[in-house]
Amino acid sequence: MSDLRELYQEVILDHYRRPRNFREAEGDARRADGFNPLCGDRVTVFLVMDGDIVRDVSFKGVGCAISTASASLMTEALKGKTRAEAETLFTRFHDMITGPGAGSAETESLGKLAVFSGVRDYPVRVKCATLAWHAFHAALEGRGEPVSTE
Ligand code: ZN
Repeated sequence: MSDLRELYQEVILDHYRRPRNFREAEGDARRADGFNPLCGDRVTVFLVMDGDIVRDVSFKGVGCAISTASASLMTEALKGKTRAEAETLFTRFHDMITGPGAGSAETESLGKLAVFSGVRDYPVRVKCATLAWHAFHAALEGRGEPVSTE
C-alpha cells in the first residue's frame, strides 16, 4: 500500500505548509491551549458554538508537521458538526491511532482524517496527532486550564 502512504504523506505536507483555519476566532470564542512537551508542539484551539452546532473552529500555534496538519484537518472536519457528532469524531480518531485499529468502515467514516492512520505505528507521534483534538475537547467542555499530553 505504498501508493496510499504517499498520498497520505502528501495530504499531511499540504496541510502543514498551508494550514486551514489558521487564525484566531472572531468574537466570543471559547479557547483552549495544548502543549506536547515531548515534541514541543503548542496549539491554541478557538471554538465558536451556535447552540449545539460547531459554527467555527480555528487554531494558532507552532508545531511539527503532524501536529499542524492534524489541527488543520481537524478544523475542516469539525465545522458544522453537532456537539455529539464532534464527540464521536474525536473518539473515532483517537481509537484509530491509539487503539488496536478501528475497523475499516470506521476509518472510512473519518474521511480525510484517515491520513493519520499510519501514526499508530509511531507511538511518539500519537501525541502530536491528538494534541489539537484534546485542546478542542477542552474548549468544548469549557475547561479553562491548558491541556498537556504528559
Ligand atoms: Zn509533534
